[in-house]
Amino acid sequence: MFKSDFVDMKDRLLGKTLTARERDIPRFCDVLIIGGGVMGSAIAYWLKWRTLDGLKVVVIEKDSTVIEKNPNSFKVRSYRDSSTTLSVGGLRQQFSLKENIELSLYTADFFRNIKEHLSVKGGDPPDVQFNPSGYLFLSAEDTAHTLVENARLQRSLGAKVELLSLEKLKEKFPWLNTEGLFLGCHGLENEGWFDPWSLLFAFKRKAMSLGAEYVEGEVTGFNFKQGSEYINQDISSEDVKHLEGAQVKLKDGQTINLNCGLMVLAAGPQSGEIGRLMGLGAQNSIYTAPIPVEPRKRYVYSVHCPDGPGFSSPILIDPSGTYFRREGLGGNYLCGRSPTDEEEPPTDNLEVDYDFFESKVWPILAHRVPAFEKCKVKSAWAGYYDFNYFDENAVIGHHPGFCNLYMATGFSGHGIQQAPGVGRAVMEMLIDGEFKTIDLSRLSFERYIEKIPLWESNIV
Ligand SMILES: Cc1cc2nc3c(=O)[nH]c(=O)nc-3n(C[C@H](O)[C@H](O)[C@H](O)COP(=O)(O)OP(=O)(O)OC[C@H]3O[C@@H](n4cnc5c(N)ncnc54)[C@H](O)[C@@H]3O)c2cc1C
Repeated sequence: MFKSDFVDMKDRLLGKTLTARERDIPRFCDVLIIGGGVMGSAIAYWLKWRTLDGLKVVVIEKDSTVIEKNPNSFKVRSYRDSSTTLSVGGLRQQFSLKENIELSLYTADFFRNIKEHLSVKGGDPPDVQFNPSGYLFLSAEDTAHTLVENARLQRSLGAKVELLSLEKLKEKFPWLNTEGLFLGCHGLENEGWFDPWSLLFAFKRKAMSLGAEYVEGEVTGFNFKQGSEYINQDISSEDVKHLEGAQVKLKDGQTINLNCGLMVLAAGPQSGEIGRLMGLGAQNSIYTAPIPVEPRKRYVYSVHCPDGPGFSSPILIDPSGTYFRREGLGGNYLCGRSPTDEEEPPTDNLEVDYDFFESKVWPILAHRVPAFEKCKVKSAWAGYYDFNYFDENAVIGHHPGFCNLYMATGFSGHGIQQAPGVGRAVMEMLIDGEFKTIDLSRLSFERYIEKIPLWESNIV
């Protein structure tokens, strides 16, 4: 009998009548995943794929369903602030770290076989609308050596990228202004963009079809077990705590306790904040070290440019970090740029700063591709990067302060493309106790504890 059944029975004996909804909400599970975005859903999928009924997996998501009511209509929206649904959906192998390259190569393979992975009986086959248009990274002379080194590593791992001299760049992309450039690197396969919503939906639908349970609610606190069960000669049991479960505030305002064996934190930009709810935050002890993840606001502008580079244009990354990509076939493009440290906007809301486009994005865009001189902003949105302020890379693995807490967070703007491989890696860590396919141990929390950053040079 599960503990949830026991709670149910206790309530009945006390004469409390449970609503059907209350009865449906689990009170105990083997693995509790906080965050039902692309990462939490990919982890749930892989855990259920591997264990089927062997593990009870529950995902808590605070923003699953939102009903917006107007006088004349109502709209159901969800994942409004999640990184996943506000992402640009780019997939590239052009990274500088082996792990990031391998994760993206795996995603391309996963997409090729997505129907085998994520189809569900009776449902439409999954389609993430992958556009294989490649990335084009551009570099000035002083940083060209990094592009060359990165390309060498990418090729050694199986990526198909080609380095392009100025002449080749002009020949291949006649709409490009090569002033100030020295070299380019173009991805020839497995790179492009896809629809973030479709990937999230496909993972979630499949995970649920395999038996993962999604609870709509917000984690607002945690319960701890008295006396740690952690057995390790080097570690005092007083230092290492044990999470008994999470306190979850449901949509109707009621708060329940949801107990678990293992907990995985996959709450995107809110992961650092949730760590604080667990009591993490003191820098002076490895057992209470904060999770170095915070929201950082990023704008995406949708512009119309009828004479733009057109169908065959790749996702272009200017040396300044300014990027654009085609959106659909009607002369529309998405573009943006990460702000500098001094320009970082406040993160208390997701309002768009249109002046940022006028002053910081457009001039660079129009310089690099003169056709963009005549473009018009049609719409824009802002989303939160799940920013790892320590070294702008994912944190995947165990937190030393708890014997049963794992993390998959801090992807810093390149997470959606890593979800298939990270989901599988977390599953391996939980079931096998080690990474079996892609070795992600360098992305573990130890590097933060030891203060040895693992920098990725190709952050956009
Ligand atoms: C503008 C923009 C562009 C991007 N472009 C790209 C790109 O081109 N390529 C790429 O690979 N990546 C990109 N990213 C990054 C990518 O979107 C993220 O790395 C990825 O989606 C992270 O997924 P996640 O599931 O960890 O986080 P999220 O999608 O944020 O999911 C976390 C979930 O946790 C839930 N949650 C939070 N707190 C609680 C709580 N207390 N209780 C319950 N639930 C909670 C949230 O509601 C959320 O749904 C971009 C991001 C942005 C903002």
